[in-house]
Amino acid sequence: MKNFTVLLLLFTFIFSFAQKKYVLVIHGGAGTITRENMTSEKEKAYRAKLTEALKAGYAEIMKGKSSVDAVAAAIIIMEDSPLFNAGKGAVFTSDGKNELDAAIMFGKDKSAGAVAAIHTVKNPIKAAIAVMQNSEHVMMVGEGAEIFAQKQGLDIVKPEYFWTKDRWESLQKLKQKETIKNTLKTTQYHLPESYVVDQKFGTVGAVALDKDGNIAAGTSTGGMTNKKYGRIGDAPIIGAGTYANSHVGISATGWGEFFIRTSAARTIAAKMEYQNKDIKSAAGEVISEIEKMGGDGGLIALDKDGNIAMPFNTAGMYRGAVTENGQIEIEIYK
Ligand code: ASP
Repeated sequence: MKNFTVLLLLFTFIFSFAQKKYVLVIHGGAGTITRENMTSEKEKAYRAKLTEALKAGYAEIMKGKSSVDAVAAAIIIMEDSPLFNAGKGAVFTSDGKNELDAAIMFGKDKSAGAVAAIHTVKNPIKAAIAVMQNSEHVMMVGEGAEIFAQKQGLDIVKPEYFWTKDRWESLQKLKQKETIKNTLKTTQYHLPESYVVDQKFGTVGAVALDKDGNIAAGTSTGGMTNKKYGRIGDAPIIGAGTYANSHVGISATGWGEFFIRTSAARTIAAKMEYQNKDIKSAAGEVISEIEKMGGDGGLIALDKDGNIAMPFNTAGMYRGAVTENGQIEIEIYK
């Protein structure tokens, strides 16, 4: 009898693992995120925000709303938080501005919307969704995208709204590093640890699977610290940093140029579609390719059966997922 009970428990345990179906996965950026650089208060704050974002997205799914609504709900929480490099808290360009990029894609009909290099829209993900749903275009940039967002009735803020002390200081440190590098006129330079600033930190993204089985993926970012004015990263490029079809959705974070050059998100979908790869192999292979090319970063992916992958080759990536019965999981380090 005792043996039978143990066996039953074991089966229930294994079965519950095999059955785990995720409905929402999010990331809050990849980078030099290590335990040593983290205080317990900071870690608590990140975990709390990621949990809030997951709960907001999950609530939409439970209400029977579309995966686009779930992605928006999760991303808006992170855009409004200065902890992440998206919306409030975005990083600075080399000329001291916050230039924001965002994208959304709905897998069912492959509709997509993106905005890039905008300075005044409080929630760039809302602008991307407006482009997808209310325009005949996929991508709008700069002033035109801002006029469109305003006409759509979205919240418009002064560019100063996005300013935060932490991000401003990161830009100053990077500029200092650049000056020293130029003075030494060599690439063989070594700087004290305090000068080492990660250029990418805290892009946000979400992929959701709604009750109708439809997937949506979205990404929002301030890009990379010290990026040149007008530089656009992978986040708003459909197929690079953001992609969704009826099988899988992907949102990436990291050194954007590499994700563009590998068509990262679309390549994962193609590997699954044409080579029958599972989500973990497909996603892992793309990160390996990026690493071989000298790039770094990570991504989140969710397929139509509720399987997820969250590979990255940086020290850490803020990430979390929620199962269909509301179980929340959050990870930060490797
Ligand atoms: N991928 C973003 C970009 O290159 C940055 C990041 O994810 O940290 O714009």
